[in-house]
Amino acid sequence: MDVDRAAPSDDESSEAELERLKADWTSPVYAFYKATPDIVYEKGRRAHVFACLAKGCKYTCRRYLDTGDSSSTGNLRRHVRKCWGAEVLKDADQAANVAEARESIVGGLKKDGLITYSFERKKGTVSYSHRTHSRAETRVEIVKWVTQSMRPHVIVKDPGFQMLMKTGRPGYWIPPPSTVARDIRVIYKKSHAKVARLLREYDGALSFATDTWTSPNHRAFIAVTVHFVLNEEPVSMLLDLLEVTEVRRIEQVIPPYMCAECVL
Ligand SMILES: [Zn+2]
Repeated sequence: MDVDRAAPSDDESSEAELERLKADWTSPVYAFYKATPDIVYEKGRRAHVFACLAKGCKYTCRRYLDTGDSSSTGNLRRHVRKCWGAEVLKDADQAANVAEARESIVGGLKKDGLITYSFERKKGTVSYSHRTHSRAETRVEIVKWVTQSMRPHVIVKDPGFQMLMKTGRPGYWIPPPSTVARDIRVIYKKSHAKVARLLREYDGALSFATDTWTSPNHRAFIAVTVHFVLNEEPVSMLLDLLEVTEVRRIEQVIPPYMCAECVL
């Protein structure tokens, strides 16, 4: 790459030009990129380089100032859709200005927010998309799959899985096991807090139940569940499942002089 950072020959300095142009960058899409793009010179042409703010993303978009589309946001938007997800971009477009989008959407999502955001938005949709998932969507789908179907999180490294996912689209991004493990913890913590809040604020009767059993390998377990009605639908939730030292049958607990009728 032939990049030379010598000062431009025009009267206006490149920094002053950048400040002038920035005033017109009102599209919320700019919120997903570093606030001040780098200025580079390539074969005498000046360009602004926009760097994506997503954690771990190395994408940069170079916009030459001597072309007609020097203010086009097409490529910037295309990448945000792929990297952050179409839903996030749609929400950002509703923001009043770049500052608001940067603060309320991008700022909140930069850490672990992206995965919980996508989780909340994805509820209740069961359909197969014609396009491949964004990175955030892939992470959500993998957390769902691993937790709901009880797969080990290292399954993402499984050669057979990789073969199925990458055939026909070798660039398809699959998160490393460490990301999957971290995402599961984040989602667990959020769900835990959400369920706790839901139960605390629930206006009505909550019914708790327990079940105990011994697994075929002689390990004893106890489960606690809660049952209630939410939006006219019966809801059952597993609250905890723990291993105990021993599970005794009920007839062993009742003293021999008490018959079943007496207990009832
Ligand atoms: Zn990106």
